[in-house]
Amino acid sequence: MSVPSQTLTTASSHALLARARAVIPGGVNSPVRAFRAVGGTPRFIASAHGPWLVDVDGNRLVDLLCSWGPMILGHRHPDVLDAVNHAAAQGFSFGTPSEGEVLLAEEIVARVAPVEQVRLVSSGTEATMSAIRLARGFTGRDVIVKFAGCYHGHVDALLAAAGSGVATFALPDSAGVPADMTAETIVLPYNDIAALDAVFAARGGEIAAVITEAAPGNMGVVPPVVGFTDALRRVTSAHGALLVSDEVMTGFRCSRAGWLGLEGVPAAGAPDLFTFGKVMGGGFPAAAFGGRADIMAHLAPEGPVYQAGTLSGNPVAAAAGLATLRGCTEDLYPRLEATATVIADAASAALTAEGVPHTVQWAGSMFSIFFREDPVRTYADARAQDTAAFGRFFHAMLDAGVHLPPSAFEAWFVSGAHDDEALDVITTALPAAARAA
Ligand SMILES: *Cc1c(COP(=O)(O)O)cnc(C)c1O
Repeated sequence: MSVPSQTLTTASSHALLARARAVIPGGVNSPVRAFRAVGGTPRFIASAHGPWLVDVDGNRLVDLLCSWGPMILGHRHPDVLDAVNHAAAQGFSFGTPSEGEVLLAEEIVARVAPVEQVRLVSSGTEATMSAIRLARGFTGRDVIVKFAGCYHGHVDALLAAAGSGVATFALPDSAGVPADMTAETIVLPYNDIAALDAVFAARGGEIAAVITEAAPGNMGVVPPVVGFTDALRRVTSAHGALLVSDEVMTGFRCSRAGWLGLEGVPAAGAPDLFTFGKVMGGGFPAAAFGGRADIMAHLAPEGPVYQAGTLSGNPVAAAAGLATLRGCTEDLYPRLEATATVIADAASAALTAEGVPHTVQWAGSMFSIFFREDPVRTYADARAQDTAAFGRFFHAMLDAGVHLPPSAFEAWFVSGAHDDEALDVITTALPAAARAA
């Protein structure tokens, strides 16, 4: 059992954060990286390999963040590295069609049966933004229904998660989003079929689409209760609205075909549109939206809904994504689930031994540990947890060489590269972290 040698200094990360703050707001290019939810100084990572991150002070950390999902095969997987090197050697970007885009689109279409066509974009945000525009263009309606606690990227119209009651007209969550941008967004509590039925009974004819995370992972992992996905399909079909399944996090992560592959196509039918990102980019900026061909035909140049991107389908990103998806074979998923189960069981045992209330929730190999006793079904449930206890737990794990997601509202991610040595470091760190919590 070898424990990684830690230099036990974080001086270089501290120094880099100070420099970063001078030239980058908050020192980070995506807010959650700043550790505001857990306090302390984020580690600046210099390199990564397999399940390991190495920070700028030379500390080796087991990675349970996996770049927020994409690194499903582990860092610098040799097949992906070869694909990237080969693609980069041919040129970085052409601004023309290229073969790699076709191969990546074919791979996605082959895996997710209801997806007949996809368009490649560069981020999950672009994918959901474009799917919403397409749904509005296709239906000729404006209203979008989303669920509190579901994150769909930083799209103006979808930055509305607050709101209580059955059908609140959402106010924006962010400064800089005009109220008009969220005026056509209705936010409902997740997993609440009665609220869904009520809003469709009142306004069904105005609703262009319901967008949902296929299995939410952005309020911690909160899978749909039995019958919820089916209810989404039933009520949208009955009122001529589209169902958009956001699989940016779950796509190719929960199974070969994402959450859809795990839960199965709902009895009432498949979603109309899907969004993908994270795993399908293999760590590069690649994402996609797709679905029924008759809907996708409304996109320019075939149809009137405009959507474009200078770097969409970038050949290096497409090669990384394709190599990653090809590595996501049928046998990868049971391995990921076995690895995640070892970690979650050990964490739960350590927390139980210290009398720390907690509950573990799953979507495939994605899981999160809520620091509260009762199951979490909604965003309100997720918020009612002891985030300070998570912060203490997080920092004890980090000090012992394990990098968890730096927030109690995130999923933990494993990769195919997490081996016995990495698991040993985690299980060795857990008892003291549970005590700290
Ligand atoms: C990460 C995520 C997004 C946004 O993707 P970006 O690439 O960060 O823009 C959208 N939806 C879900 C479900 C996500 O997890």
